[in-house]
Amino acid sequence: MIVQKDTPMAQFTSLATGGNAERLYICETPDELKKALGDGPKSPIWILGYGCNSLISDKGLPGTTILLQGGRITREGDLLIADSGVWWDNLVRFAISEQLWGMELMSCIPGSVGAAVRGNIAAYSQAVADTLVWAETLDMTTGEIRRMDLGDLELGYRYSRLQESNNRQLVVLRAGFEPKKYPSYELSYQSVLDVIKRDGLNPNDINDRRTAVIAAREAADSLWDYEDAMHNSNNAGSFFRNPHVSRELAEKVMSFDESGKSLEALKKMNSAHSGDSLKVSAAQVLLAAGFTRGQSWGPVRLSPHHVLKIENTGGATSQQIYDVAQHIITEVKSKLDITLKPEVQILGEFD
Ligand SMILES: Cc1cc2nc3c(=O)[nH]c(=O)nc-3n(C[C@H](O)[C@H](O)[C@H](O)COP(=O)(O)OP(=O)(O)OC[C@H]3O[C@@H](n4cnc5c(N)ncnc54)[C@H](O)[C@@H]3O)c2cc1C
Repeated sequence: MIVQKDTPMAQFTSLATGGNAERLYICETPDELKKALGDGPKSPIWILGYGCNSLISDKGLPGTTILLQGGRITREGDLLIADSGVWWDNLVRFAISEQLWGMELMSCIPGSVGAAVRGNIAAYSQAVADTLVWAETLDMTTGEIRRMDLGDLELGYRYSRLQESNNRQLVVLRAGFEPKKYPSYELSYQSVLDVIKRDGLNPNDINDRRTAVIAAREAADSLWDYEDAMHNSNNAGSFFRNPHVSRELAEKVMSFDESGKSLEALKKMNSAHSGDSLKVSAAQVLLAAGFTRGQSWGPVRLSPHHVLKIENTGGATSQQIYDVAQHIITEVKSKLDITLKPEVQILGEFD
């Protein structure tokens, strides 16, 4: 376990911004986390993995920040068990090496296993919810450790019940996954299918699927590696959640799609909801509101590859990124009457 004081957090976030953590613990295992908490840490307590989905205030984080990074993956029968600090893609690679299916389309989503469970991360129609069996959690207020099964966790679109407990009360310590012994997904995303066709890959080979996903993610600026900070573009993934809008508005917004898909195909992709609303892509919403790929405000830019990713092109502050996000939220509300909500976790104080 590493303990530091007044540590700049920009080095620990994919946006490469953020002020100092008053007291920082870097814990590799659940036991180290328990030890750090047994140290009588000053509150508030902030739990982070690799900072790939977090915008940390320039004023820093008071109290105690705990980074969960590292840990072990084991196989027990059909279950793969990973500590919360395990880099998500190491778990995916482990599953692939064992010829286990159901995680391969989530190759190279940056971040930790713990945050993956908390946010039910997903890509190309595969989600954590499809293979997760349980998560062992620690209640930081009572010290209780318990195993929550899939039903207890209530996983939904970028959601788990863990998010209800004021953001940091329940910490994932470990999680158990049960990937399948056979291909459990049809590939349906055009960008991945295009790579498969272009490069002559086999869609039913698990390694080829990973190769195609990585190429598609590269083209969409969706790769980030904590061990390769020099080559990363600094963003936090999709900045906003996909909103629910009326069917009528959904069709208008979908007409701004840039992928060339038919309206019917887009409707299929946007999952239907009961009643009159549809979940539409926040990227299409931004385009419909007049924002463009590559648009910039000083050192803050919308990715030239994917309009939904807000980037720090060098020297941006968290406040500047926050201000651009607020500007987008305000414009979208006034032009389309759609309320956008950040997917990125906004931590600490902003003006
Ligand atoms: C380039 C890029 C591409 C991305 N692509 C995708 C994608 O395809 N699909 C997708 O779903 N996401 C994507 N994301 C978002 C990101 O990868 C996920 O949100 C990921 O789960 C973040 O992991 P992290 O450890 O870095 O989280 P952090 O930013 O460190 O934390 C995020 C949140 O999780 C909480 N948290 C962290 N660890 C724990 C724990 N052990 N227990 C409880 N709460 C915890 C934190 O308090 C915080 O609220 C992308 C991000 C980037 C930078």
